[in-house]
Amino acid sequence: MTRLLSLKTYICILLLMAVGCKGVSQEKEEATVNEEEQTETFQVVKSEEEWHKELTDIQYYVLRKAGTENPGSSDLLNNKMAGTYVCAGCGTALFSSAYKFDSGTGWPSFDREIEGNVAFDVDYKIGYKRTEEHCAVCGGHLGHVFDDGPRETTGQRHCINGAALRFVPSEQ
Ligand code: FE
Repeated sequence: MTRLLSLKTYICILLLMAVGCKGVSQEKEEATVNEEEQTETFQVVKSEEEWHKELTDIQYYVLRKAGTENPGSSDLLNNKMAGTYVCAGCGTALFSSAYKFDSGTGWPSFDREIEGNVAFDVDYKIGYKRTEEHCAVCGGHLGHVFDDGPRETTGQRHCINGAALRFVPSEQ
């Protein structure tokens, strides 16, 4: 009997240790994720007040609050002129007009970014995993990238808020 009890006690202790370890390892994982978020630094850093002053309401909502504009609302959606789409926050060149295609979604879409000027992250905001993209220089939110783009080129669909962009026509 004593032996049986001690075996039960032993098992209980083992279980408690296992649960305890799991708790600790989860805390560690979360801490690592948070640290990674905090380590991304940007060349252009401004206070919320400064961004508010410089940007329109919709630009601020998209770039600084990671909001999404209504589909079909951007003047740049059907723009077919040759030029460069730059960050509305800091002017960094993000997409070339050569990469633009009509995705039919209501948001300006590109099959690739100007390499090095766009940075990527993962978000679960609407319940499933998406690859978020933002300006690599100021951190302004741009949109998301999906893998259902044109197969004849990259297969990527960079679904970008027009409010995050400013169009600079090519010099003729
Ligand atoms: Fe920027």
